[in-house]
Amino acid sequence: MKRVAVLGGGPAGSIAAAKLAAAGLETFVLDEKLAWEKPCGGGITYKAYDKYTFLRDNDTPKQIVTDTMITAPGAGTASMRLRQPLLIYSRYDLNGMLLRRAEQAGAKVEKTRVLELQRREGRWNLRTRHGDLDADYCIVATGARNPLRDVGTQLRPADAMLALGYYVPAEQAHVDIQFLPQLEGYIWVFPRRGHLSVGICGKGEPAQKLRARLEQYMREKELDYTKAQFYSHLLPSLETPAWKTNRIAGTGWMAVGDAGGLVDPITGEGLYYAMRSADLAASTLIADACPVAEAGVSYRQILQHDFGEDLAFGAMIAQRVFLGSFLFRAVPTRMVEFMRRSPRFLDLMQDLFAGTQPYLTLRDRLLSNLNGTLGEVVMSFFFQRLIPGGQRA
Ligand SMILES: Cc1cc2nc3c(=O)[nH]c(=O)nc-3n(C[C@H](O)[C@H](O)[C@H](O)COP(=O)(O)OP(=O)(O)OC[C@H]3O[C@@H](n4cnc5c(N)ncnc54)[C@H](O)[C@@H]3O)c2cc1C
Repeated sequence: MKRVAVLGGGPAGSIAAAKLAAAGLETFVLDEKLAWEKPCGGGITYKAYDKYTFLRDNDTPKQIVTDTMITAPGAGTASMRLRQPLLIYSRYDLNGMLLRRAEQAGAKVEKTRVLELQRREGRWNLRTRHGDLDADYCIVATGARNPLRDVGTQLRPADAMLALGYYVPAEQAHVDIQFLPQLEGYIWVFPRRGHLSVGICGKGEPAQKLRARLEQYMREKELDYTKAQFYSHLLPSLETPAWKTNRIAGTGWMAVGDAGGLVDPITGEGLYYAMRSADLAASTLIADACPVAEAGVSYRQILQHDFGEDLAFGAMIAQRVFLGSFLFRAVPTRMVEFMRRSPRFLDLMQDLFAGTQPYLTLRDRLLSNLNGTLGEVVMSFFFQRLIPGGQRA
């Protein structure tokens, strides 16, 4: 193994490149835009900055948000003071910081578009907008709109959701999350430095309808979208069968981040999984014991064990979370009601927000807490007592 080409320099590509270069491999990052304002909320959970502490400990501008308001139809709003704050970056700043980190580790970063890749005699030939390049291995990190058809996940329409929104020149200190009737998705308002990222993600609904839902919400909240910059992008959201057949590696290549479909199918969180998958892919490649031909197999197994199984399980329960019902009311409605009335349930939501509650053990935790949670809900009805921070509809 001599030379690795990292195709795409978003969070996934930069993290992989930094690790590979630091391990002494000749590493090239090829990105057509370099640092850019990729449509994104830019929210980084505790799970991400606890593992990758450089996301927290740096001079790059970011918002540190502790207050969250969650609203569902018919339930009003529950407020939650996060034990572990959410970090919110502009993607221009985040991408720039991660690319500089890769460069400092020794990676060569080039602004160019990869047009085609061909495998010849055990090596890669890459055709780019600015000439050809040879490589022994490719890390595919070209995002959800990966134009390279032979590598990376094959997203069917059912395996993606649309995400769109506006950058609004306004300020607020807290995050808003709004569930909507009959939508497998949600609206968010994320405060950033100098503006708000207000957006909606949803599965199975056309962009026009999602946009109309978002604009109605913004009118109600007096968030002016008429002069705000609009954005839209694709968000991988693999269905259960796709997790089984997902094309994340092949001979001489591995896909990381969105190019591998590695996004939480419920929350849409992709930044952690982009960085984690890149870290795992680079580690697999660096490992001496792993021959190049088998690296992809190893990567698939490690990924599955690390978070793949959990996200696949998330895909199984996603519809029930947004569209299901519990005790004759919609699940999001019950969620907000319970947050306001049960400290145990609020505790669970804290962990879900921090990213420390896996989906695989969610059911067991809910069941073991059920009596206590319902007890707290009933008591709060009797005594009209709400937990601190809880608000009435
Ligand atoms: C509206 C929206 C809101 C989101 N909000 C959040 C959030 O708050 N928190 C969160 O965790 N996740 C969020 N996500 C998901 C997150 O944005 C992605 O998961 C994350 O960007 C994936 O990183 P990546 O490096 O895999 O891909 P990307 O960030 O998409 O990077 C891919 C890179 O590849 C480059 N590229 C593509 N094709 C080529 C080519 N042919 N040649 C050269 N370069 C190429 C692009 O220029 C780009 O820089 C959101 C997504 C959307 C759409």
